[in-house]
Amino acid sequence: MTSRITFEQHPHPSPRPSADRDAVLAAPGFGRHFTDHMVTIDWSTEHGWHNARVEPYAPFAMDPANMTLHYGQAIFEGLKAYAQPDRTAALFRPEANARRFQRSARRLAMPELPVETFIEACELLVRHDEAWVPHGAEQALYLRPFMFAAENTLGVRPAAAYRFMVIATPAGAYFSGGVNPVSVWVSEQYVRAAPGGTGAAKCAGNYAASLIAQAEAADHGCDQVVWLDARERRWIEEVGVMNLCFVYGSGGDATIVTPQLTDTLLAGVTRDSLLTIADELGYRTCETRISLQDWQSGCANGSISEVFACGTAAVITPVGQAKTSGAGWTVGDGRPGPVSLRLRDALLRRQTGLEADLHGWLHPC
Ligand code: PMP
Repeated sequence: MTSRITFEQHPHPSPRPSADRDAVLAAPGFGRHFTDHMVTIDWSTEHGWHNARVEPYAPFAMDPANMTLHYGQAIFEGLKAYAQPDRTAALFRPEANARRFQRSARRLAMPELPVETFIEACELLVRHDEAWVPHGAEQALYLRPFMFAAENTLGVRPAAAYRFMVIATPAGAYFSGGVNPVSVWVSEQYVRAAPGGTGAAKCAGNYAASLIAQAEAADHGCDQVVWLDARERRWIEEVGVMNLCFVYGSGGDATIVTPQLTDTLLAGVTRDSLLTIADELGYRTCETRISLQDWQSGCANGSISEVFACGTAAVITPVGQAKTSGAGWTVGDGRPGPVSLRLRDALLRRQTGLEADLHGWLHPC
């Protein structure tokens, strides 16, 4: 796919030696090491999108009056390129991320990057840094597209200039010793999103506001925080930076239930992919409202057999234990359940090209 914008390409004159790169790829972790290149596109009211380029990864200077630092017009995306059986790399559903990026931009009064330009930027970075795509089980190259205000002034209004960039970091297996369940803390004090707010946008401020609740979860011995709705503190929304699914029933009779999308939920690409795959595997799926009470009583009476979180980072993370200020309960037997594991495996097989790409989700680079 080509966009109307032409990218200048300046390959790194001295990319990292392969021995250094191999050392990183042997234990990639997440977000600690970046590849040799980055993509940048500028936008101004005068010129629109312009000055698109792929160049060596490098820091840049920022004016202290840069508007992002003061008023937070900053949005981002996260998607992965997976090594395929023929050793090429393919992005997973970049168009879905491109569209979500446009929705985030609209909410933050920022310019919308054309979908094809977003995809081409990601594709070019993967092509320049193909040697950085890890080939180990459950590993991938994580791409971080982002956009921020590039005007320097202290007036409170949408900026007149922006910068879009893509950087990449090799990501290791999220679960190195097999899939482990997490424990979750239901935050009754803090909310992630309110009606009319920015919850459906992937903007930096949402994450800043969530950190204190994540710290509260850790204080209560839990791995992640569960977000309730802002109005009634009754309805389940998300967990940490992932969507949440409940498995009612078991075996072939299971129904996958997930909170319906509203303007207080981020529409996960993984959530959407899993709903499609669940349907293909013969499970029923249902997008509706689920209350904290439904969760607790469903686990007590056995109607809920499994609960899992889903997102690009870990695909599926089973939830083993839940805790509120007044109660705590175990989901099923507290261990990863068969439906969660089956869906996880099915999605990973699609992403890594081990199973037919029925929906054109893989975008070869
Ligand atoms: N909710 C939030 C708040 C997130 O940050 C993410 C990660 N982007 C998700 C859900 C899962 O989205 P995805 O499946 O697209 O990674």
